[in-house]
Amino acid sequence: MSQSFNAFAMAQEQLHAVAALMGLEPDVTTVLEMPKRELTVHFPVRMRDGAIKSFTGYRVHHNLTRGPAKGGIRYHPDTDIDEVRALAFWMTIKCAVVNIPFGGAKGGVVCDPSQLDIGELERLTRRYTSEIAILLGPDKDIPAPDMGTNGQTMAWILDTYSSLKGTTVPAVVTGKPISVGGSEGRVEATGRGVVTITREVLRSLNMQLPESTIAIQGYGNVGSAAAVLFHVSGAKVEAVSDVNGAIYRKGGIDILALQDYVRQHRTVVGFPGADPIPADEVLTMAVDVVVPAALQHVITAENANQIRAKVVVEGANGPTTPDADVILRSNGVTVVPDVLANAGGVTVSYFEWVQGLQSFFWTENEVNNRLEQILIRAYQQVHRAAQHHKVDLRMGAYIVGVGRVADAIRSMGIYP
Ligand code: NAD
Repeated sequence: MSQSFNAFAMAQEQLHAVAALMGLEPDVTTVLEMPKRELTVHFPVRMRDGAIKSFTGYRVHHNLTRGPAKGGIRYHPDTDIDEVRALAFWMTIKCAVVNIPFGGAKGGVVCDPSQLDIGELERLTRRYTSEIAILLGPDKDIPAPDMGTNGQTMAWILDTYSSLKGTTVPAVVTGKPISVGGSEGRVEATGRGVVTITREVLRSLNMQLPESTIAIQGYGNVGSAAAVLFHVSGAKVEAVSDVNGAIYRKGGIDILALQDYVRQHRTVVGFPGADPIPADEVLTMAVDVVVPAALQHVITAENANQIRAKVVVEGANGPTTPDADVILRSNGVTVVPDVLANAGGVTVSYFEWVQGLQSFFWTENEVNNRLEQILIRAYQQVHRAAQHHKVDLRMGAYIVGVGRVADAIRSMGIYP
């Protein structure tokens, strides 16, 4: 998580590696190397003491050849244009890996949401929305939650955009509350996808999810939903962490009791049913599966050799650096890449968008069944590509994802 780390340089390195492997035409690589468009906005927000503070925000569209722009909005003090560019690139690949008709986008506001009160968050969100509204629209760009944002943020974006348009436009955001057109199953979708993909990869390794042990870094939207579903599936979640610290219990934490504790205390730290451990130990625990579900750049050349899990399932975006990938591969650790492992979120976002456009809503079972079908198909395609080319699952996923985007670019041609 060092400040010098550049996520966009890492994303470009991944693109160049897959381009070389696939023999991608230089013209296509050139198109994918840089985002299609980027908007940077500086905007004023009235703070609780009456003072005006200026904030900086971004919205980046990476590639829209396969459909309108789709991607979350992140509120984080360290976000910057290169991080948002990288995340937009990964969204292009992710949507193509699960074969849903979107291009990649991402947004971010440089702020620490934990230091803002609810009124400040609402004013910041509404003003940021009005600043980037020229890009938004159900057929143009559809934001969703990411780190530091949630369903409430999406409801404010929906209301602000709808006020500007003079009509309610539910399909302009996904991950919104069910009361304003959200989808059943969306809140848990990314975590559910992490668990589904973990089950599939363990099967390929002749292991079983119900007997496996799990450690999860990050206990937010993704980490906590995955923890609950792992627990319900019979897996043993032995360690979890959040920004405040980590806890461990051999044989598995009672995740349902932890959920109650976190609802009250807003952290996993202090949970009486487990012991405190140093936060960075979560990634290097002797468990079957480690799920980084917090930040990027946490498995690096410095700690990759200490990873003892058999499988790393990337709930977060960009947690493993290319150097670390090489080390993990040579140590026999299977890494399931972010563009597959956390694609459950954007897949149910796609379902939410479809439901919003049709004003016809599905049951939670329908959502979960369709999600499962899409993820299993994507996993099998990625696994097959990796085996065929004798590469790891990340390269397999990039071969599938970049291959689909490249096909679309070839079909459309280069204008003019
Ligand atoms: P969130 O804000 O809900 O939760 C983040 C969690 O990480 C919190 O528990 C926080 O305390 C913890 N955390 C922060 N810094 C930490 C640190 N240094 N060590 C340990 N824990 C730390 O965010 P989220 O929506 O769960 O997103 C997490 C990751 O998953 C991000 O990389 C995001 O891009 C990715 N992701 C999210 C979604 C989604 O649907 N929300 C979809 C795909 C990918």
